[in-house]
Amino acid sequence: MASNELPFGPLPSVAGAISGGIEHLGLYADHGAAALRADIAAFVGLDADQVTVGAGSAGILQQLLLSYVGVGDKVAMCWPSFEAYPLFTALVEAEEIRVPLLDETFDLPSLAAAIDADTKLAFVTNPNNPTGTVVGTDEIIGFLGSVPPTCLVVLDEAYSEFVTDERVTDSTLLLPDHPNLVITRTFSKAHGLAGLRVGYALGHPEVIGMIDRTLVPFAVNELAQRAARASIDAASEMRARVAAVVAERTRVTGALRDGGWNIPEPQGNFVWLPVTADAAALGNDLERRGVVTRAFAGVGVRVTIASRDWNDRFLAALAEVRPKPTC
Ligand SMILES: *Cc1c(COP(=O)(O)O)cnc(C)c1O
Repeated sequence: MASNELPFGPLPSVAGAISGGIEHLGLYADHGAAALRADIAAFVGLDADQVTVGAGSAGILQQLLLSYVGVGDKVAMCWPSFEAYPLFTALVEAEEIRVPLLDETFDLPSLAAAIDADTKLAFVTNPNNPTGTVVGTDEIIGFLGSVPPTCLVVLDEAYSEFVTDERVTDSTLLLPDHPNLVITRTFSKAHGLAGLRVGYALGHPEVIGMIDRTLVPFAVNELAQRAARASIDAASEMRARVAAVVAERTRVTGALRDGGWNIPEPQGNFVWLPVTADAAALGNDLERRGVVTRAFAGVGVRVTIASRDWNDRFLAALAEVRPKPTC
C-alpha cells in the first residue's frame, strides 16, 4: 500500500489489447503516438495538437523541466508534495523554491507570492501527493491571474479521476485563457497501468511542441499505446473501478476518524496520516505487521486504498501498533 497503484490487474479488454500487440513488437512504435493522442483529445474534448504523451506523467514532468528550465532558474512548489519534483529540479541545476502547505493543502496565494521573474516553472498538485488534499478550481484561476506569463504552471492531476469535491471542476476549460498552463495526467493510477509507463499532457500547442522536443525516441512503447487506447474505450469500466476505490476511501476515512485519527479530506486513492515525528516509527511498525506504507520521515505516512481485505488489514495493524492516535 506504498505506491498508489490500483488493487486490480488490467481490465479484460485492456489485457486483450496488450496481448494482441505482442506480434507487433518487432517494429518501432509510432514515436508521435498519433492515434493515442487523437483518442485522448476526443476523450477530454480538446484538439490533437493540445495533447502529447510521455513515459508516464513523471516522464512528461522531466521533459517539462528539460524543455523549460535552465541552470540557475527557479522552480516553485508547495511542500510536501510529489518527490520527483526536487529530483527533476536538481537534474537541470535549477533553484528550488519550497512554500509550506497550509492545513496539508497547497497554499496558492503564498506560492504566487514566491514566484518572480526568474521562476520558470511552478507545480500545482491537485490532489496533492502525499496529503491527498485539493484546491478549488476558482483558487487555481486566481493563482493563474497572479502568476507572470513567463512562468509555466504545471497542474499535476495524476489523481483527478478520484476527486469527488465539487469545488474542483474541469481544468481543461482554463487552457484557452492561460497559454502558460499545462495539465498532466496519467494512465498509471485510475487506469491501473502503472507498469506500462504512459502519461499525457494537455496544453497550448506551443507548449505541447516544447514538451515533444525532449521525448526520448519511442519512449511510449507499442503495448503502452495499445493499452492506453483500449483503456479509453473502456472508460465506463475504469470509472466503475474508481468508484469502488472511492467507496473504500470513504469507509477507511470513516474508520480512522471514528478511531480518533485527525486526517485531512482524502481526494486521491490514498489517505494521509500527518503524524510528524512518529512517521518513520509508524511506517516501520506497520511494515513489521506486513503492511507496507510510504512513510515521509518527520512528516506523515501515506497509505494507498487497496482491496477491502487489505484496507481492513491496515486498519487492524494500525489499531494494534497505535491504540492511541498520534495525529
Ligand atoms: C504517481 C504520480 C505521478 C506520476 O505517475 P506516472 O506513473 O509517471 O504517470 C505524477 N504526479 C503525482 C503527484 C503522482 O503521485
